[in-house]
Amino acid sequence: MVKSRIHGVVSLGTTVIAAGISALAMGRDSWALAALYGAIYIASGALIIGAFCAKCPCKAHCGHVLPGKLAARFPHRQPGPYRPLDYTLLGIGLAAWVLVPQPWLVSHPGLLIIYWVLMGAAGLQIQHFVCRACRNTYCPIRQMQIRQASGQ
Ligand code: SF4
Repeated sequence: MVKSRIHGVVSLGTTVIAAGISALAMGRDSWALAALYGAIYIASGALIIGAFCAKCPCKAHCGHVLPGKLAARFPHRQPGPYRPLDYTLLGIGLAAWVLVPQPWLVSHPGLLIIYWVLMGAAGLQIQHFVCRACRNTYCPIRQMQIRQASGQ
């Protein structure tokens, strides 16, 4: 649990640094644009937590720590299978985080490479250490890992 939480916090921090790289790329064109991305990033985070983490049955043991603590402050949602609307809102939030800054990153190849190296490293950590210790059995990634582990 401690190991997965270390990876969870480090991986979340890595994605935040990647978002900072995005803001830097946008800021080279306009700092107002970078500030707008900051606002979009925070709003998307709230959307993701409200749509997905608020229904998580193990918020108190969240490997990333902060999302679980924030989700506990959201209006209560009964843990259970995620609905299409939950996935839609999650997808919108993740797309806003990742897709919005791509045009600016592409025009700064050095920052683009750093961004995707950081995101790749975070993704590997999450997949190999955080998700495997997670108890949110309603999460499709966790369900897939459980199926693979049982050979189904
Ligand atoms: S374990 Fe996953 S779904 Fe649950 S609160 Fe943490 S990040 Fe959200």
